[in-house]
Amino acid sequence: MKHLSILGSTGSIGVSTLEIVTAHPDRFRVVAMTAGRNLELFSRQIRQFAPRVAAVASQADVPRLKELCSGLDVEILGGIEGLIAAATADEAEMVVAAIVGAAGLVPTAAAIRARKDIALANKETLVTAGHLFMKMVAEYGVRLFPVDSEHSAVFQSIEGHRSEDIGRIILTASGGPFLNMPADQLGRVTVADALNHPNWSMGRKITIDSATMMNKGLEVLEARWLFDAPVDKIAVNIHPQSIIHSMVEYIDGCVIAQLGTPDMKAPIAYALSHPERVFTGVKPLDLTTFSGLTFLNPDLEKFPCLGLAYAAIKAGESMPAVMNAANEIAVEAFLDGRIGFVQIAQVVEATMNAHDAHDLKSIEEVLLADRWGRDTARNICQGMVH
Ligand code: NAD
Ligand code: MG
Repeated sequence: MKHLSILGSTGSIGVSTLEIVTAHPDRFRVVAMTAGRNLELFSRQIRQFAPRVAAVASQADVPRLKELCSGLDVEILGGIEGLIAAATADEAEMVVAAIVGAAGLVPTAAAIRARKDIALANKETLVTAGHLFMKMVAEYGVRLFPVDSEHSAVFQSIEGHRSEDIGRIILTASGGPFLNMPADQLGRVTVADALNHPNWSMGRKITIDSATMMNKGLEVLEARWLFDAPVDKIAVNIHPQSIIHSMVEYIDGCVIAQLGTPDMKAPIAYALSHPERVFTGVKPLDLTTFSGLTFLNPDLEKFPCLGLAYAAIKAGESMPAVMNAANEIAVEAFLDGRIGFVQIAQVVEATMNAHDAHDLKSIEEVLLADRWGRDTARNICQGMVH
């Protein structure tokens, strides 16, 4: 029986994780969970999974959550201390890090320091502070399992191989909803258009990141840290069918890929049950039903965010943190209708241009760079005409 703490249980990854837990009550038990603002769903989850600890992001939501959970034997906490308490709960052996954005940084760091194994969905932690996180993972002797489908695919394709034999890591990308739209029409797309992802059902922020291809940029940085690979050995192939989830090319010319129906329950389950595999209910893959699997190079002019991510990692330690922060602010502004779609990349680029990269020696320094990026990006958004 593996005891789990799920950070971000009300999100897309959190809900899929709970489906796996429900399917395997003999294997997994939830001992702690956290949520942002969806108190109704969270209270239903608490009722169903009976964790010992449940924490909400805002202290102000604690009284309402207590009301919704009255009569239940659960410790209700709030604020960052509450999230940390859930991330470090004594009984938890593994923490599923599924909070979205840089907000996941501090609880995930606390979980590592408490020597919990990590199933990592929250890619922003590695994007902003990969060098510090990977050092902590080694120092505290914890295991880090990727949940992101591409990284799970790479992880599955390198098991049993020597890292020195890897030639390239090839991340696949669906290309998002605007893959075939002429670049000059991107200025007119709506929030609903951008949220209409062709293959994956995900949270709003990552869905917009997929439409701008910033998601793939974040994933290049995530792969850089997870697999200790220089970014010039990490390539991106557009693969609109999302059947090959990523590949590893070896120095002898052999390529190993992982395939499957696109459903996050598969990589989540593998992170939870590694090295064993468990039933997920994911639809079996029948390649004969596809008329073809296609691949092409990304268009960096049409999707500048991907190039910005490569530039950020080359610029120095604080730049990816600033880029990520600016992206979070720009995506929020787009979702609120304050800026247009193409302006997301413009906000990120302008914020990066205003930043002098420097080293980051601690999580506190990462949070300062994150704060600077947010403030700068907010000012830039305000000055934009939409
Ligand atoms: P989501 O928006 O659906 O859910 C996010 C969760 O985090 C929710 O439980 C929310 O309440 C909580 N949360 C949000 N802001 C918070 C804050 N400030 N403090 C505490 N909790 C907060 O997001 P998602 O799509 O599930 O993605 C979660 C993470 O997993 C992201 O980092 C994303 O990039 C990554 N990821 C998601 C998918 C996917 O299919 N959804 C795939 C790969 C990677
Ligand atoms: Mg992914």
